[in-house]
Amino acid sequence: MKEIKRFEQKVWLSSPTTHSEEQIFIKEAFDTNWVAPLGKNVNEFEKEMAAYLGVAQAAALTSGTAALHLAVKLAGVQAGDVIICSDLTFAATVNPVSYENGIQVFVDSERDTWNMNPDALEIALEKYSGKAKAVIVANLYGTPAKLDEIVDLCEKYNVVLIEDAAESLSATYKGRQTGSFGRYNCISFNGNKIITSSGGGMMLSNDEEAVSKARFWATQARDAAPWYQHSELGYNYRMSNIVAGIGRGQLLHLDEHRKKKKEIFLRYKDGFRDLPVEMNPYLEYTEPNFWLSCMLVEPELVKSGKVTPEKIRLALDEKNVESRPIWKPMHLQPMYASRDFIRVDGEDVGADIFTRGLCLPSDIKMTVEEQDIVIEIIHRCFK
Ligand SMILES: *Cc1c(COP(=O)(O)O)cnc(C)c1O
Repeated sequence: MKEIKRFEQKVWLSSPTTHSEEQIFIKEAFDTNWVAPLGKNVNEFEKEMAAYLGVAQAAALTSGTAALHLAVKLAGVQAGDVIICSDLTFAATVNPVSYENGIQVFVDSERDTWNMNPDALEIALEKYSGKAKAVIVANLYGTPAKLDEIVDLCEKYNVVLIEDAAESLSATYKGRQTGSFGRYNCISFNGNKIITSSGGGMMLSNDEEAVSKARFWATQARDAAPWYQHSELGYNYRMSNIVAGIGRGQLLHLDEHRKKKKEIFLRYKDGFRDLPVEMNPYLEYTEPNFWLSCMLVEPELVKSGKVTPEKIRLALDEKNVESRPIWKPMHLQPMYASRDFIRVDGEDVGADIFTRGLCLPSDIKMTVEEQDIVIEIIHRCFK
């Protein structure tokens, strides 16, 4: 077997891919001495994102986490309230609940999307009926959850739905954009997301008053008085005009980024057709944005220790290729050990995906040749 050379340039999981238009929007901000605070890029970026997602209003913020925090506040979460959350996700989905002293209840994933299982959600809503204020659902790795079922359940039990579309920007569910199903919707422009503003996020809603309130909290909650007067606790969460300029330039390339992400996913799927692995699944009536391509290794191989995600990760790392474990489920996090975890049929699907899964390099600057080598490195792990 021919030795595979180590990549001179690192192959990244998902690094920023920039173009030329970002600089045009930034230059305009400099030329008009409008680098900060808000300004035209922020206003336009909000309008452009709201139009893209088909939601009435957007508030541009410093991060997706800030967007989630304000969404939790808008849901009226008080100390001790229960918020039912996706379990298999990044901690930023659920930490804002703790910022408001709410209590997370985690709902297990389903096999067919890796997202919140609606059957488990219903069990949680029954169990916490009268106590649960909101549901936070994340679309993991860009794959839409069963949003119709989740929206219906939230209506039935009269709880607010917050959609965490940080990873799924431009993914669609039955033709409709993710990030438009919640009463409050959150997206992120962090560096490794499908588009980036170098860091930032937005909270979107059809409730214009709610979005105004979010902007108010995000600018230190200043009352309408000539002096600095505050009746409420505020935050410094607003996006800068430079950051928004980068975001506007990136938005022009969002659909192109998604197409490339999908090509990467399909090449992995084809490249692994003879291996005992599966790619992250999705429903046929959804179109993911394929933010990260992930693989799941057959249970027996992992159990016996013959081929584990960690062995694959180390083999890739040795050749200067970045991969990453699946998010560790929230119910397994030390800081959330006391929280309830709701699942069906006694099975812990999230833990199983975590144990057997790996996020593969999904950087859209990766060439076909580079990806073929990545696929070959992984093949050799099974020999
Ligand atoms: C990235 C991410 C966030 C947080 O967004 P930031 O802009 O990094 O604060 C929230 N939820 C999920 C699922 C994410 O992947």
